[in-house]
Amino acid sequence: MKERTFSIIKPDATQRNLTGKINAFLEEHGFRIIAQKRIHLSRREASQFYAVHKDRPFFGELVEYMVSQPVVVQVLEADDAVTKYREVMGATNPKDATDGTIRKLFGESIERNSVHGSDSKENAAIEIAFFFSGTEIVG
Ligand code: GDP
Repeated sequence: MKERTFSIIKPDATQRNLTGKINAFLEEHGFRIIAQKRIHLSRREASQFYAVHKDRPFFGELVEYMVSQPVVVQVLEADDAVTKYREVMGATNPKDATDGTIRKLFGESIERNSVHGSDSKENAAIEIAFFFSGTEIVG
């Protein structure tokens, strides 16, 4: 069934000019990019977005990284988009990621791992609503 997930092309990737390569990868793997914008996150937005990690030792570094360069936030549509994107995204640490996944191809470290993808349908809906209004999503 057609489903939506939320994606971020993270600062390490926008900094290295990889937006087009990652978008080509997404389209080649059957995702439609039905909303997209390049934004510079504020510390407040980054902290709120990653609030689930606020007690982790890397939280401060993660927030600084996320505000260090622009990001591209996206809504992706595909059959089983949430699960499918987690698969092609690869493991959090690029070293552990399967060959051919985005993080294996482009990621630099456990933090600078090039993309974010929602981990459940519920979180996808919350994350999409955090960044996009209904009229900005054109399927
Ligand atoms: P994801 O769902 O695979 O993105 O992983 P998590 O939700 O566990 O972590 C969110 C993000 O925090 C990751 O994508 C990384 O950018 C960062 N991160 C996760 N673990 C670590 C860590 O041990 N150290 C640092 N510096 N960053 C981490």
